[in-house]
Amino acid sequence: MGKTTGFLEYTRAANTWKPPLERIRDFEEFKLPLKRAERQTQAARCMNCGVPFCQSGENFGGMFSGCPLHNLIPEWNDEIYNGNWRQALNRLLKTSNFPEFTGRVCPALCEAACTCGMQGSSVTVHDNELAIIEEGFRQGWVQPRIPAVRSGKRVAVIGSGPSGLAVADQLNHRGHSVTVFEREDAPGGLLMYGIPNMKLDKKIVRRRIDLMTAEGVEFRVNADVGNTVDPQQILKDFDAVVLCCGSKTPRDLNIPGRETPGVHFAVDYLTAATKKVAGKTEDFAITAKGKPVVIVGGGDTGNDCVGTAIRQGCTGVTQLEMMGRPAQERLPNNPWPQWPRVLKTDYGQQEAIAVFGRDPRIYQTTVKEIRPGEDGSIGSVVTVKLESRQADGRFAMVPIEGSEEELPCGLLLIAAGFVGCQSYVADAFGLTRNNRGSIQTVNYRTENPKIFAAGDCRRGQSLVVWAVTEGRACAREVDLALMGYTNLL
Ligand SMILES: Cc1cc2nc3c(=O)[nH]c(=O)nc-3n(C[C@H](O)[C@H](O)[C@H](O)COP(=O)(O)OP(=O)(O)OC[C@H]3O[C@@H](n4cnc5c(N)ncnc54)[C@H](O)[C@@H]3O)c2cc1C
Ligand code: SF4
Repeated sequence: MGKTTGFLEYTRAANTWKPPLERIRDFEEFKLPLKRAERQTQAARCMNCGVPFCQSGENFGGMFSGCPLHNLIPEWNDEIYNGNWRQALNRLLKTSNFPEFTGRVCPALCEAACTCGMQGSSVTVHDNELAIIEEGFRQGWVQPRIPAVRSGKRVAVIGSGPSGLAVADQLNHRGHSVTVFEREDAPGGLLMYGIPNMKLDKKIVRRRIDLMTAEGVEFRVNADVGNTVDPQQILKDFDAVVLCCGSKTPRDLNIPGRETPGVHFAVDYLTAATKKVAGKTEDFAITAKGKPVVIVGGGDTGNDCVGTAIRQGCTGVTQLEMMGRPAQERLPNNPWPQWPRVLKTDYGQQEAIAVFGRDPRIYQTTVKEIRPGEDGSIGSVVTVKLESRQADGRFAMVPIEGSEEELPCGLLLIAAGFVGCQSYVADAFGLTRNNRGSIQTVNYRTENPKIFAAGDCRRGQSLVVWAVTEGRACAREVDLALMGYTNLL
């Protein structure tokens, strides 16, 4: 513990965000880091508690709490406070492969469980983590670590999202030869095509891919396993195969007018936006410019659509959420250190308030019908209010008759979650999917002893920090199967 009275003396100061009206002018990252000395002061707020829930990664009362990676948070806070940035980096990299990703996009399960946050405000763990890794890159401390000895074993990883990258990183450093197959034109999974540039600049993803390439990982892009690449050949050529292909089947709307032009899945929309921002296309393949936008889904993906639509110049934006408005503060049945189920106004929603003067979210509402305009593409949507009612012994959100309203709409985005791994990938390898559409595993092992699975395709739609955690745990199982023992953490 760097400074015993730090938590009493200093107040929390997170990275600042550019003001909404300024940041919507471009797709650049909008969080501004603190100065190094200010960051050291923030690290002094860590109390090094006897039981650091921040790094516990445990289930409390049915809800997960703390960092799933068990990042050694009090240790690196101490190192930051004392100015030992290099040692802070060493401790961070013990448990985390890609802190530059989690330090940008993780919702910080750690901070919700921080003891300082029980009464006051938590330590800025997430921003401290980012400061350490970026200092590491700035100082040139993050260099390719090429394994001195190779095991002679070959591993194929299908999918290059955070889970696939973590599997590849772990097994490569263990000395196995890893090839990552990715069907898109660039590696990174949802880090590349999904999470918008303003949250995670694609240069940061490419920096990591370049580092892993220099360390010996081979990336094969435009390689769609099950379509353009034969799975049987992969099984022949490699000693182990790891499926990290994500939970990519979007939940659809089954309503009249669904086929009307101008209705898109959120991920397709966000991918098209990133391709334009990255200079891969001349124009946005799907754009909100000059249109009123309706987004079905009040979650984080919906919020990313709000931020993107505003940057493209939409004329208005509405986000429909089926569930009720969350509480402003923790309820008694949701105590610390559980993740707080409270109202969060994220960057996109803040921007909508700044531009259009109102929160874009409408609660307990969904779309009932899509209506075409004069040119045949979408012109409006009919919404309906919902209420929670008991049916067949369960509570369900059901429409309230007579509550329909018509909203003008030039672009409808479906951000209603995902319903599992795409079947063609599982089928290509003859694997079973469970009733949630995810690949069936026991300890990351599928029914085929040569094939493993990790990340969203195994656990269902989740978070980057979970994908990395799964990738590390899966790599251990693969190593054990290949070598008969493992020393991977
Ligand atoms: C819009 C959006 C925003 C999000 N924002 C956040 C956030 O801010 N913070 C956060 O923590 N989480 C966020 N998430 C969730 C997070 O991105 C995912 O949980 C995480 O990326 C899952 O990692 P993964 O490696 O399992 O799969 P993915 O990242 O989905 O990667 C799977 C990869 O497999 C490839 N693939 C699939 N099938 C094949 C095949 N047959 N052959 C070759 N390649 C294949 C895909 O092209 C893809 O690149 C977001 C999700 C979305 C959709
Ligand atoms: S990965 Fe997420 S939960 Fe873990 S320390 Fe970083 S911000 Fe916190």
